[in-house]
Amino acid sequence: MRRYVSAVLLAAAPLGAAAAQQAPAAPAAEVVAIRAGTLIDGRGGGPVRNAVIVIRGQRIEAVGPGVAVPQGARVVDLSRATVLPGFIDAHVHLAGRTIGDGDWVHSAVTESAADLAIYGVANARRTLEAGFTTVRNVGAGGFADIALRNGINAGRVPGPRMLAAGNSLGITGGHCDDNGYVPGIFGHEPGPLEGIADGPEQIRQAVRMQVKYGADVIKICATGGVLSQGDAVGVQQFDDEELRAVVQTARLLERRVAAHAHGTEGIIAAARAGVNSIEHGSFLTDEAVRVLVEQRTWLVPTLMAGWSVGSEEGSRRLPPWAAAKGRAAWAAMQRSIRLAVQGGVRIALGTDAGVFPHGQNAREFELLVTLGGMTPMQAIQAGTMNAATLLGLEHEVGSIEAGKLADIVAVPGDPLQDITVLQRPVFVMKGGEVFAGPGAGTRSP
Ligand SMILES: [Zn+2]
Repeated sequence: MRRYVSAVLLAAAPLGAAAAQQAPAAPAAEVVAIRAGTLIDGRGGGPVRNAVIVIRGQRIEAVGPGVAVPQGARVVDLSRATVLPGFIDAHVHLAGRTIGDGDWVHSAVTESAADLAIYGVANARRTLEAGFTTVRNVGAGGFADIALRNGINAGRVPGPRMLAAGNSLGITGGHCDDNGYVPGIFGHEPGPLEGIADGPEQIRQAVRMQVKYGADVIKICATGGVLSQGDAVGVQQFDDEELRAVVQTARLLERRVAAHAHGTEGIIAAARAGVNSIEHGSFLTDEAVRVLVEQRTWLVPTLMAGWSVGSEEGSRRLPPWAAAKGRAAWAAMQRSIRLAVQGGVRIALGTDAGVFPHGQNAREFELLVTLGGMTPMQAIQAGTMNAATLLGLEHEVGSIEAGKLADIVAVPGDPLQDITVLQRPVFVMKGGEVFAGPGAGTRSP
């Protein structure tokens, strides 16, 4: 970072000849040229052979097959790889213990926000090394995700660019609450600060509290869930009036709303209330698909989460009350993703990583193809430009274009033939800094 600060300071200084002579030479932003054997730029067009990407500092300066390597540029040779925009996961939980890891069920009463943030440090690195250069973290206790985001932004911790939600918002006793304990165990009943809110007044306060303490986005629990005790997975939790209060308050604060919703009625109610995305969307119907299309609501399918709580293999890690719900949701999800793809719902890739181990996020691309019926290019779009658009970052990331941040991933082989190669990145660059592959560690943050 220091080199950019110097450049900015010098640019602001008076430009006299004497000043220029006396000032120490400003270290110019480093220029890197990537030779890409095949380029998929994220804009939806076909692959391009033998392209060059020129990166100056944090941003892409030029890209294309006819672009020359500038003199003095450090060359990164990826001429035997396929180069793509950094992947984006619109649904992760970096800050916390992974489901199935130790006593995860009681984490709420055995681990502090500091513990959650420290889990997040390791999880953030794994996620970045898996090729995911941007994530949306949709819920964490104690603002541990805000601390992690700030650490990543300051260069103290390697990790993806993060949008963070703070606490997820939900009703008393709902999916986003910590249930199954005796009254008073938390010292006080969780309220709007912790994201627990009943009625529009408390909801307005809960949204404002999350934003006050650093939230970039608001996450709500519109229906019950799989990994929560005492609720049915599909039932609507926030009522229609409460959903409208969330959306209206978030809009005034220029924040988008992501709604966890499994059941059909909750999906429809949340979409009609104006949330930006439905997370999971397990029990879709033709009518629900129609409403999502009409409202231009994004769907973030989290097929990896469904697989990991609902498959034979995955549900074995869960207590019986959760395993039964997991299997039901997973069966429905596999039908719903096809309905959504065929019905033209806008889909952004999101995994719910944390429900399964971080770093396996790119398996979602494979499931979007094998279960959802997407083409490999559609799946790549879902995890690049579509997710960037859902996050409101479409002018900064999501494609390899001049002017955008240099978030670049390379994989061996051809993902249009074999989508699983996206699970084996050989090069990861975020904002011009290389975190994995040739040149990693050559630029200090
Ligand atoms: Zn989640």
